[in-house]
Amino acid sequence: MIDLFSDTATKPSAAMRAYMCQAEVGDEQRFEDPTVNRLQEMVASLLGKEAALYLPSGTMCNQISFAIACRPGDEILLDRTAHPLHAEAGGAAALTGTVFTVLQGTRGIFDRDQVAAAIRPVWRYAPRTRAVSIEQTTNLGGGACWQLERMRAICALAHEHELWAHCDGARLLNAVVAMGVPAREQAASFDSIWIDFSKGLGAPVGAVLAGTRDFIDEAWRLKQRLGGAMRQAGIIAAACVYALEHNVERLAEDHANARRLAERLAALPGLRVDAAAVETNIVLIDAAATGRAAAEIARALDERHGVRVSTFGLRTIRAVTHLDIGAPDIEVAADAFADVLR
Ligand SMILES: *Cc1c(COP(=O)(O)O)cnc(C)c1O
Repeated sequence: MIDLFSDTATKPSAAMRAYMCQAEVGDEQRFEDPTVNRLQEMVASLLGKEAALYLPSGTMCNQISFAIACRPGDEILLDRTAHPLHAEAGGAAALTGTVFTVLQGTRGIFDRDQVAAAIRPVWRYAPRTRAVSIEQTTNLGGGACWQLERMRAICALAHEHELWAHCDGARLLNAVVAMGVPAREQAASFDSIWIDFSKGLGAPVGAVLAGTRDFIDEAWRLKQRLGGAMRQAGIIAAACVYALEHNVERLAEDHANARRLAERLAALPGLRVDAAAVETNIVLIDAAATGRAAAEIARALDERHGVRVSTFGLRTIRAVTHLDIGAPDIEVAADAFADVLR
């Protein structure tokens, strides 16, 4: 099977598993797990923040950040494609009581003027605009990267208006590798930022949230409250340490594979793929001109060729490359598309 459904499909490698087996562990809640402590220090340093916190998921990183930044009735600005809007079970509304206002970005990316237009004047009839959230890279936006200047301009505007600037960095390291802009530079103007380890980095579980010491102290309280506090978590945190040491530079291979897939698919009749727009590991494919539903094509790919992809709406297919996909798999997957469309 060639699993392009998501980069969450990666399985821990033999070397990663061996590294996990040797991990020194303790009670992370009492700061006695040396592996968790080490991971948190590594990420704080990578992102240039005072402190960091290991959490079970990226979703929890987003939810804890929103809960600290906002009070019930507050408003969060984010793109119409944002993960917290589509894939976090309404968490910000349910857990913090916020409203989302969506900005109409392009490939998940909006600009400073759109934020400026959306920030509400302080008025007791209106929700208080309290936070702006961006995604680096954009997931449903097709893995597009925010340029550093644009992020800085939006964070500066947010801070002028006393808003919280949050970065959902599920795939931040893909952007680091693709753009050649260090993580700490990208992270500098955000109040909260996190990276996911269960995506392209290839670890089985976890994400790490970073910010000021005070922010992380408060995040600990929420981690405890939500049931995210673990015990000998070093056994899984070890996989994340391993991933930081071995699986970052190689993300460039995933990007090259995604680009190659996009180029091959763009040549097939009925598929519209903007190969030049593939910056990282996500390929969006518009299948409208085939006259067939995206889900039907996906089903045929899976049943006939063991190639798995995801779909959005009636016409969009998404393929995501990752460390369990090699260059030869890309040729097989592209051949499978050609066969299914024939
Ligand atoms: C996957 C993802 C998340 C959620 O991360 P989990 O670790 O799966 O909870 C959040 N934001 C984006 C952009 C993602 O791609």
